[in-house]
Amino acid sequence: MKESINHIKSFRIEGKTPGPHVLLAAGVHGDEYEPVLTAIELINELPQLLISGSVTIVPIVNVTAYRMSSRYGEDGLDLARICPGKPDGSASEKNAFEISTLIKASDYLVDMHTGGLAHHIYPMAGFMLHPSGEVLEKQRALALACNLPVIWGTDHRPNGRTLSVARDEYIPAIYLEYGGGSGIRKEVVKTYKDSCINVLKYLKMAEGEAEIIAPEKRFWVEDSMPDSGYFQGKMPAPSDGIFVCEKTPGEPIKREELFGKIIDPFTGSSTAILADIEGIVLSVRVAVHVKKGDALGSILPIVEPGKVIIN
Ligand SMILES: [Zn+2]
Repeated sequence: MKESINHIKSFRIEGKTPGPHVLLAAGVHGDEYEPVLTAIELINELPQLLISGSVTIVPIVNVTAYRMSSRYGEDGLDLARICPGKPDGSASEKNAFEISTLIKASDYLVDMHTGGLAHHIYPMAGFMLHPSGEVLEKQRALALACNLPVIWGTDHRPNGRTLSVARDEYIPAIYLEYGGGSGIRKEVVKTYKDSCINVLKYLKMAEGEAEIIAPEKRFWVEDSMPDSGYFQGKMPAPSDGIFVCEKTPGEPIKREELFGKIIDPFTGSSTAILADIEGIVLSVRVAVHVKKGDALGSILPIVEPGKVIIN
C-alpha cells in the first residue's frame, strides 16, 4: 500500500462572504462510524447552506485505525492521546500532526465521536473547563447550540487530545459523543448533522436562526476534578466474565442500585455491579466479554435537568 494513502483527506467549503473558519472532525477513532457519515453528508450539503466563512471537514482522522476497524492505528496508538503528533512519526502520529495543523488554522473545532464498538453513550456535548473565561464561554455556547441533552465540562489539564491542541491555541473546541456498538444508528448521523448545522447558524455562517433548547432543560455538569472526562477509567470491572447490563443510557439510577452483573462462565458465579453514585446513566458497555479493569459504564452525577458544578 502506498504510504501517501494514509494521510488525512480534508474538504474545505467556502461561503460567499468572509467569516469564521470551523473545523469538523470525525474518525479520530477508527471504530466510530456515524460521525464519518455525518461528515460525508455535510460535505455534500454545506455548499448549498454556507453563506459566510468556511468549513473544513475531515471524515477520517486516524486513517490506519479506520482501515483496521479499531480505536487504535496500525502502530497501536490512540490518536486522542498523542496530539500534536509528529510529522515524521508513525501512522497515527503523522495523522495527529496533520489534524493538529488543521486545528491551529481554524477558529472553532467540533470533534465528533461515538462510544466505539465497546460503549453506548447518551448524547452529549463536552468541552474542557478552559482557564480563559472568554474561551470557556464560547465553548459553552457551542455546546448549547448542538442541542444534545447532556452538556459536560471537564478537567482542562489532560494532554494529547484534539481539544488540548485547541486549548493551547485558545481556540474554542467541543467534542460530541452519542451511540456506539455495532451497526449504524441513523438517528446519530441525523442528530450530529443537525447539531453541526445549528452551530453554523449560531455563528451566522448558515441561513436561518439557530434554535437552541433552554439550558435549564439540559443535564449540565461541570466537573473540574482531575481526569473527570476520562470515560475509560470509569466503573472498572472487578473480574473477567460476561457483562449483563441492566441499564440504558439516559436512565436515572440510585446509589447502590444494580447497574449490571458479571457472570463467570467457568464457575457460574455472578458479581453484582452497583452504582457508586446517584445520577443518570451516561454510558454503558455493550461489548459483552469483559476483562478485569475494563470500563463498564459511567454515571453523570445529576438527577434532574439543570446545572451541577463539581470542584
Ligand atoms: Zn472516540
